[in-house]
Amino acid sequence: MKYAAVVFDLFGTLIDKFSLREGTKMLEQIASVLSVSSDDFIELYFSTYNEGALGVFKNTEAKFEYICQKLGVPSKHTQIELAAQIHLDYTRRSITPRPDSTEVLSYLKSSGHKTGLISDCSDVVVKVWQNTPFASLIDVAVFSCLVGFTKPDSRIYHVLTEQLKVEPQSCLYIGDGGSQELTGAAQVGMHPVLIRVPDEDITDMYRLDAERENWNGTVISSLKEVLTLIE
Ligand SMILES: [Mg+2]
Repeated sequence: MKYAAVVFDLFGTLIDKFSLREGTKMLEQIASVLSVSSDDFIELYFSTYNEGALGVFKNTEAKFEYICQKLGVPSKHTQIELAAQIHLDYTRRSITPRPDSTEVLSYLKSSGHKTGLISDCSDVVVKVWQNTPFASLIDVAVFSCLVGFTKPDSRIYHVLTEQLKVEPQSCLYIGDGGSQELTGAAQVGMHPVLIRVPDEDITDMYRLDAERENWNGTVISSLKEVLTLIE
């Protein structure tokens, strides 16, 4: 086998990217539940993204409490609970496999490849993960909020390869280029590949990642193409 394992990113790779339009609607709804200005809430929601991904907040509830405190608006326990529930439901709906992702993962497993995931995310993704179709198709999933570092920190890749019991050099890494993840993967010795889906609406993205635009390495436009890379 050319590679012992194929490692994937989550958002923008196995599933669609976070939709700015849909996400904003959800955040406006939460702001209304918390009785705070939606502009202020949305600004703080995104500016505390890194803390969430690093596991600084114990959970979503703690993040929302922090934001309310910052805005000087007292929040009731019931409001926080409801807001966290809206966020959880939204995340559950968002983690829908792209049309070919479960098929590709099933093929990889049946052909003897190990499968891994490295995601920069907050606790809400961890909460819904076990109930997604990916849970049985990904051998090892590493979530930044649980390990305390995010991509492209080399430690997050090493956590995965240690748990997967493979050498980084024998891993293909597939990602849409968020958080400089491809550079990080290359630095530990993995073989990085950019996935850039052609019909993606870039006006609906929270941010455009530099690697997505400037990557000089291998590029694929669908997950199915992973199968041609492992042969
Ligand atoms: Mg991504």
